[in-house]
Amino acid sequence: MDVEKIISLCKRRGILFPNSEIYGTFAGFFDYGNYGSELKRNVENSWWKHFVNDRDDMVGIDGAIITHPEVWKASGHLESFNDPLVGCTKCKKKYRADHLVEMELKISVDGLSVDHLKELIEKHKIKCPDDKGELKFLQPFNLMFKTSVGAESGNVAYLRPETAQVIFTNFKIIQHSSRKKLPFGIAQMGKAFRNEISPRNFVFRTREFSQMEIEYFIHPKKIDKCEFLTNEHLKYELNVLTSANQEKKKSHQKMKIKDLLSEKIIKTPWHAFWVVESMKWFENIGIKKENLRIREHLKTELSHYSSETWDVEYNFPWGWKELEGIANRTDFDLKQHMKFSKTDLNYFDEETKEKVIPCVIEPSFGLERTIMTILLDSYSEEKEDDEVKVKLKLDSSISPVKVAIFPLMKKDGLSENAKEVFELLKKEFVCEYDEAGSIGKRYARADEIGTPLAITVDYDTLKDKTVTVRDRDTTKQARVKIDKLFEFLEKKIS
Ligand code: ATP
Repeated sequence: MDVEKIISLCKRRGILFPNSEIYGTFAGFFDYGNYGSELKRNVENSWWKHFVNDRDDMVGIDGAIITHPEVWKASGHLESFNDPLVGCTKCKKKYRADHLVEMELKISVDGLSVDHLKELIEKHKIKCPDDKGELKFLQPFNLMFKTSVGAESGNVAYLRPETAQVIFTNFKIIQHSSRKKLPFGIAQMGKAFRNEISPRNFVFRTREFSQMEIEYFIHPKKIDKCEFLTNEHLKYELNVLTSANQEKKKSHQKMKIKDLLSEKIIKTPWHAFWVVESMKWFENIGIKKENLRIREHLKTELSHYSSETWDVEYNFPWGWKELEGIANRTDFDLKQHMKFSKTDLNYFDEETKEKVIPCVIEPSFGLERTIMTILLDSYSEEKEDDEVKVKLKLDSSISPVKVAIFPLMKKDGLSENAKEVFELLKKEFVCEYDEAGSIGKRYARADEIGTPLAITVDYDTLKDKTVTVRDRDTTKQARVKIDKLFEFLEKKIS
């Protein structure tokens, strides 16, 4: 799939495009347009429903973007949220060392240490891609965006690089206010900021993006028992790339969750549960299962807080890359915040009358990467009379507009009738009224943004109060009475 086609569609149709274009753009920042903001909201709502509203062991929060700077000391971000940096000794341009090696040698660098990267740069005589100057390793680069708070200088604060920490700092308050007992989860979605060295690949790597995260808290003595794991979860089969197979340079293979657990490849049933729940959601919103796999982090790749991490990866045009990370954060974060804030964040187990620090499994999704995979998997082209027509075959639950409404002609009262249909339906569905250009052009415009159904008001409507409803994917048309439209559309639009 040529990603340029997606980028061009996104700009042409107001989905997603570079920020500040009139000033020559600002690398790593993007704006959602008229259709994009609807699409974004639909994806967020779908995620929130699947992971929060449909579960009684989950609650959500909406925390601040700038938080107390001590939080980032406690979490380890100030010390370790770094990327390896190399600089050209001639032109002084800076590059992320692992990305440069990956690009130049066309190999996966997941889990390689800085020493290993140094070795590869020396062995393969990798030079500055711009002017072939010698490369030199610089101080690792911290990805946190700094800002200052208030009128006095020196009050440094940071924009959050992940939403997770505000969940940990609020753990006690939320546990009390929600009266949830272990196991339970706290979810949050919102902006995160990382000063990426080289933002790239459209919205895959940006400096401002949205995350959808869950911190799922489990009794430390019950981490090996997940009461939600059903037969359906155990029978679930997916593409799996284990760390052992990565070391043997093998590719992924199809495996069932029950085998991953019995062979102790995935260590805890809770981890397996969240892998399947994530996969199910991705499938629900129209991402093709064959384009997804889970990949185990190598020991050398694990973040400082994680004992086990599986990434859900998508087969992007530039290779298999992370879409979501699912980490076992153990009790690391709560312990750190207890130490730094000197606040008791223990959970009191009423059954055993003991205080425990819960363990945490964290499914962490990127919203922009999810939107990008949806666009890649739903994009299709059809040739019609030497013209290429683009169709986004979006799942109706996330399409920005659900129903397009057209009068066949602007005259003879057809516009007025079509506007009445629009007024009626917009109470229930996001609709768009369009009377400009030929019917063919209007269908094409609706197809391009993934509108699942298009209604045409024609001369028969004036006689028998019926309209045609055209299905985007099959292009088949049905004649439906206006007073039966709600029922008809509700069945079609899930
Ligand atoms: P990567 O290795 O690609 O830099 P990461 O491992 O640092 O990603 P996490 O910290 O696990 O990413 O963040 C969780 C999710 O947030 C990722 O799976 C991804 O979808 C999203 N994400 C992280 N960084 C970015 C970014 N710079 N731009 C867009 N999305 C991002």
